[in-house]
Amino acid sequence: PLLLVGTATCGLAAGAAAVLKTIKEELARQKVEATVLEAGCMGHCYAEPLVIVYKPGFPPILYGYVTEGIASRLVIDFLAGDDPCLEFALGALEENEFLPALSDFPRFGVEQKIILENCGLIDPENIMDYIAHDGYAGLARALQLEPAAVVAEIKASGLRGRGGAGFPTGRKWETCLGTPADEKYVICNADEGDPGAFMDRTIMESNPHLVLEGLIIAARAVGADRGYVYVRAEYPLAVKRLALAVEQARQCGLLGENILGGGFGFEVEVFQGSGAFVCGEETALIASIEGEPGIPRHRPPFPAAAGLYGRPTVIDNVKTLSFIPSIINRGADWFKSTGTPGSPGTAVFALAGKLVNTGLTEVPMGTTLNQVVYDVGSGIPKGKKFKAVQIGGPSGGCLPESALDMPIDFDSLSGAGAMMGSGGMVVLDEDDCMVEIARFFLDFTQKESCGKCTMCRLGTRQMLDILEDITRGRGRPEDIDLLLSLAEDIKAGSLCGLGKTAPNPVLSTIRYFRDEYEAHINEKR
Ligand code: SF4
Repeated sequence: PLLLVGTATCGLAAGAAAVLKTIKEELARQKVEATVLEAGCMGHCYAEPLVIVYKPGFPPILYGYVTEGIASRLVIDFLAGDDPCLEFALGALEENEFLPALSDFPRFGVEQKIILENCGLIDPENIMDYIAHDGYAGLARALQLEPAAVVAEIKASGLRGRGGAGFPTGRKWETCLGTPADEKYVICNADEGDPGAFMDRTIMESNPHLVLEGLIIAARAVGADRGYVYVRAEYPLAVKRLALAVEQARQCGLLGENILGGGFGFEVEVFQGSGAFVCGEETALIASIEGEPGIPRHRPPFPAAAGLYGRPTVIDNVKTLSFIPSIINRGADWFKSTGTPGSPGTAVFALAGKLVNTGLTEVPMGTTLNQVVYDVGSGIPKGKKFKAVQIGGPSGGCLPESALDMPIDFDSLSGAGAMMGSGGMVVLDEDDCMVEIARFFLDFTQKESCGKCTMCRLGTRQMLDILEDITRGRGRPEDIDLLLSLAEDIKAGSLCGLGKTAPNPVLSTIRYFRDEYEAHINEKR
């Protein structure tokens, strides 16, 4: 038998370490021989700790809400005996006669996993497990192609960066490849910092070799010989598993001077950021690696032409890089067959807030918010009414019930006053005050402003003061117009994306929930 225990941060926070220990001790007591592996996140974070049991004669079964007591019973009754303890099962991984298959869950009709395909099903600390699941096949193919052909394939796929802005990845790579320089760099931006977002952390904890393979292919494509994974130090498990992945890849000849004998050399360093949200902005991230304060710089020049140490540098988000191996392996046309013409592929979302089934999901671009909230997330708990979804983190916006039928893609969301952002989705119900939500997100960006631009530093402070007045019953009728006017000035007067998008939660809540602002203001009069 084989047991997989979900030990990403979501599992560990729910007690997976104690479950793992119990399973190992009970196996020894019962003298049952079984392989126990620590896997990553299986996506069903609402039901952590999660355990998958593979026992010959039974379908692979996923157990949820596993306690130490349930873990003991799984070993005694199922592994030492033949009772599969179905009362604790969430479902079977395969079609079978006696247990509902997970594929029967409504969410499986909506989900399509490219990046998350192997998350929770492989051992993230074992490169051989990754290789056994077609890992590094994309790199092997990329090494057979000319760099320009690799760039052309990514360009043809229409892949857009998943860090938030949605810039075409192939165009960025093309600029870097076409800029002559003595050295070039590739960087994985793993500085995820949005409140409510945990997609990148989970991918790194669950399948670090996927991210690394994407980065090596990017290096091969643009001619970089050095790369960095910039990951925040608050993600210790991701840091540990990435560092281990780098070490294992080096031992297997997948990093170093002559990768797989293909005449291409590349080295990677896992660089720990210190937790400043603004370091997710690419020029601030570059400054941070250079040893300077993490403060954004003027663009142009863009990093693809002059980035780290003034050299051409490709910076891509964790999810963007995680698509690269499959695109190179399966081709641009395969990738474009999913999603919408303007936003091909899938989107990974971290589902948080007032949802029955919180967790991680991956759906084709163009899926509606309604499908994500109700089919994947199983709706709002306690029979409460859906009010809004905050999408895209502090740079994003709040969308109301009337937007539930809107397809999720880069262009639809920005048209509605929100943005894809990196994939955080916080669902709000009838008990949530939208002015308070706007205040919360603005408070976050205000504190994270680096202070370089006056409008970002002082304008957001001014907006925050007004929001605090409104929520504390001191609002004035002219405050809404003042907020709108300040928001425009801040967007126009800010250097980087943090300031340019900081007013979005306020603007979108005024656009869709103006009555709540007015109710606060009128209440005190
Ligand atoms: Fe710093 Fe804000 Fe200016 Fe960005 S917009 S550089 S965070 S002050």
